Amino acid sequence: MMAKIHELSELLANQIAAGEVIERPASVVKELVENAIDAHATQVDVVIENSGLDLIKVIDNGEGITSDEVPLAFVRHATSKIQDRHDLFKILTLGFRGEALPSIAAVADVTLQTRTATADTGFFYQIKGGQVTQEGPAAGRFGTSVSVRSLFYNTPARLKYLKKPQTEMSLIVETANHLAMAYPNLALSLTHNGKTLLKTSGNGDLRQVLAVVYDRKTAEKMVGFEGASEHFRVNGYLSLPEQTRSSRSYFAVLVNHRFVKNFSVSNAITAGYGSKLMVGRFPIGAINIELDPLLVDVNVHPQKAEIRLSEEGELTDLITAVIRDRLSQENLIPKALDNL
Ligand code: ADP
Ligand code: MG
Repeated sequence: MMAKIHELSELLANQIAAGEVIERPASVVKELVENAIDAHATQVDVVIENSGLDLIKVIDNGEGITSDEVPLAFVRHATSKIQDRHDLFKILTLGFRGEALPSIAAVADVTLQTRTATADTGFFYQIKGGQVTQEGPAAGRFGTSVSVRSLFYNTPARLKYLKKPQTEMSLIVETANHLAMAYPNLALSLTHNGKTLLKTSGNGDLRQVLAVVYDRKTAEKMVGFEGASEHFRVNGYLSLPEQTRSSRSYFAVLVNHRFVKNFSVSNAITAGYGSKLMVGRFPIGAINIELDPLLVDVNVHPQKAEIRLSEEGELTDLITAVIRDRLSQENLIPKALDNL
């Protein structure tokens, strides 16, 4: 006999969603920092202990959440970012599905502390495995901090599937690097077991972010490029052909400030180098692609790591041409950076 059809409990539904959205500690970091950015934070500090297995804490100076709305933030598909189906086709925020906080709270022990600019006092809310364990007023600075402990404590299969702690930590660093490159205006820091691994100034200079992520010499030797076509604007910094890596993962593709994996764009970049680049070698750097949000569908991947672009051919032609032209110029003089 088949079992009867019934609705899943909210916790179970959230755990299933967590399976897609929250794959590993780095996914928690990504979702929490993106929430901070959506809340217009200018400073975000990420504190990690034991590769995220003991603690992932993200502290922001953003708008905060009013105390009466905090429980809603943990309800699935509850979001302040889109209203109706029209908004879905012109996403201006990093989040919009209302899935991250309920997913994280379904598989971890979460403490959120928040205070808006107009609130007399702050508010804290603790939720573990989908159950609220404590809540109430609390002193605290403006903005929001979210602490995540005991990640995957109730999903042993997920915990077992994680890689070595060093690998998980390197994925967290990579996530933070991508966010820093996508938001040079954000002062972002990352510490692990008390050691600072990343710290950007937030002065808006992408080259300075690249100097922090890689090193100063590498960033100084990169060439800046920019260009535009009917639907796209592109700009960024890439290394010269003599300074390359054997993996594509050393240049970041950022579409409307979202780090994405896109093979066509990646191939368009290497095509711009043409025969200057040896087969199997890739440049270092970052490319920003800006376009009308109507032309991007970010709703094709649970973690939004892949997107669908309209007019992709126009974009790849633009990228290849801009890079080819820039590299053929004589004055590829390195730019000295101010003291970091
Ligand atoms: P989404 O980001 O898709 O809206 P989340 O589950 O990540 O969904 O967050 C739910 C809601 O909680 C957000 O829409 C936002 O209103 C609020 N929120 C979450 N994090 C923050 C933060 N750091 N600062 C201010 N508001 C936040
Ligand atoms: Mg979110």
